[in-house]
Amino acid sequence: IIELRHVDKHFGDLHVLKDVNLSVGKGEVVVVIGPSGSGKSTLCRAINRLETIDSGEILIEGQPLPQEGKELAAMRAELGMVFQSFNLFAHMSILQNVTLGPTEVLGLPKAEAEARAMELLERVGVASQAHKVPAQLSGGQQQRVAIARSLAMHPKAMLFDEPTSALDPEMINEVLDVMVDLARQGMTMIVVTHEMNFARRVADRVVFMADGAIVEEGAPDEFFDHPTSERARDFLNSIK
Ligand code: ATP
Ligand code: MG
Repeated sequence: IIELRHVDKHFGDLHVLKDVNLSVGKGEVVVVIGPSGSGKSTLCRAINRLETIDSGEILIEGQPLPQEGKELAAMRAELGMVFQSFNLFAHMSILQNVTLGPTEVLGLPKAEAEARAMELLERVGVASQAHKVPAQLSGGQQQRVAIARSLAMHPKAMLFDEPTSALDPEMINEVLDVMVDLARQGMTMIVVTHEMNFARRVADRVVFMADGAIVEEGAPDEFFDHPTSERARDFLNSIK
C-alpha cells in the first residue's frame, strides 16, 4: 500500500535519497536500518510529505501523494507517524492529546472520540494516566500515548522513526511491546530502529540503507545471519 519508485532527493549538494525503490504491502512490517546520516529519517518524512522529493513517485494505495491542502492533510492522517521525540501537546491532558485529531480532523463527536481514546490508552497501558499532562509521564508512557494518538486517526499504515532511541533502557521494551502487538494485529508498519531483536522478531523484511541508497533487503534471519554486502556486514559488526 506504500510504494516508492525511483525517489531522489538532495539537500543542496548532498544526495540524501538515491533512486530509492520500496514497496510495502498491506500488513507488512518493514524495518529500516543503517548508519547515521544514511537517509532513514528523510525517507520516512518523504513518505509523509514532511519533505519534498526531487524526482520519482510515492504512491499510497496506488495514488500519488497530494501536493497540498485538504487532500494532503487527509492523506497524512492515514499515515500515523511516531518520532524519537514524543511531540505531545504539553499543555493538554493525555486524553485531550488523543481526542484532538479525531474531533478536529475527523469530525467525531467529543464523547465518541473520548470513548475511543480511552480504549486506545487502555490498549497501550496508560489509561490510568488519561487526566495528567505529558510532563507527568515517563518517556515510555509518553511514547505509548503518541502511538495511541496516531492510532486514533485510524491510520492505514504507521511510520516509526527511532521511537525508542530517546528512552531510558528500562522503558524501551514497554514501547516495543506495543509495537509488537500492533504488528501482530496486522498493522502495516515501516520502522526505523536500532533494536535488532525487535527487527528479528517482528520484521517481514529488513531494508538496509547506506549513503541514501537501499543497499540490501531481505528476510530478517537471512539479512542478519548472511548479509551479502560489505556495508551491511560492517554495520552489523559495528553495532554488536
Ligand atoms: P540518523 O540515524 O542519525 O537519524 P538518518 O539515516 O535518519 O540518520 P537523515 O536524517 O535522513 O539520516 O539525514 C540524511 C542526510 O541528510 C544527513 O547527512 C543529514 O545531515 C542530511 N539532512 C537531513 N535533514 C537535512 C536538512 N533539513 N537540511 C540539510 N541536510 C539535511
Ligand atoms: Mg534519523
